[in-house]
Amino acid sequence: MARDTGAACRRCRREGLKLFLKGDRCYSDKCSFERRAFAPGQHGQARFKKQSDYAVQLREKQKVKSMYGMLEGQFRHYFQKADLQKGITGENLLIMLERRLDNAVFRMGFASSRNQARQLIRHKHILVNGKKVNVPSFQISVGDNVEIKEKSRANTLINESLEAVDRRGIPSWIELDKKTYRSTIKAMPNREELTMPIQEQLIVELYSK
Ligand code: SF4
Repeated sequence: MARDTGAACRRCRREGLKLFLKGDRCYSDKCSFERRAFAPGQHGQARFKKQSDYAVQLREKQKVKSMYGMLEGQFRHYFQKADLQKGITGENLLIMLERRLDNAVFRMGFASSRNQARQLIRHKHILVNGKKVNVPSFQISVGDNVEIKEKSRANTLINESLEAVDRRGIPSWIELDKKTYRSTIKAMPNREELTMPIQEQLIVELYSK
């Protein structure tokens, strides 16, 4: 499936915060945002100008899209589904994004970025409840077991990522057993544990125009 392959670090600089799109590099002093925390391009360091409401809403949507590595069509589709569900649309949207298998694999520490998680899934290194799943958008549910296929457990990227998982932190809805390369979904992802500064209401306002 198509995905956004634009330069990751430029997107962080455009959105004005670290989106953690490049795995371990994001935690090192090689992070571009640490060195150049201003927007890319000729006017990137221009003085701050007041943005219109529309521009603020648009940037918020672009930020969340970039975080989860999504294209516009996919993202709008998630919004439409979230809008049909009971509850608060913005929160529904974020929970659906968190329930994606690529996000879960990243959160579990099997991959150091969502992008790397998508590769692991597409290359069939991941089992869900004992079966190979190669669809990054697969929605995980409470009680699901997600594990690394036995033959893939020597994979260097997976092991390096697991070694660094404590630094990144694991959300409370996931139980990870590093020794067996297995995780269990203990509960639905929750809004409170999304620590990135996201104002989902702005996305709802944008799509509701
Ligand atoms: Fe963003 Fe990571 Fe690049 Fe830093 S290294 S600018 S956090 S993608």
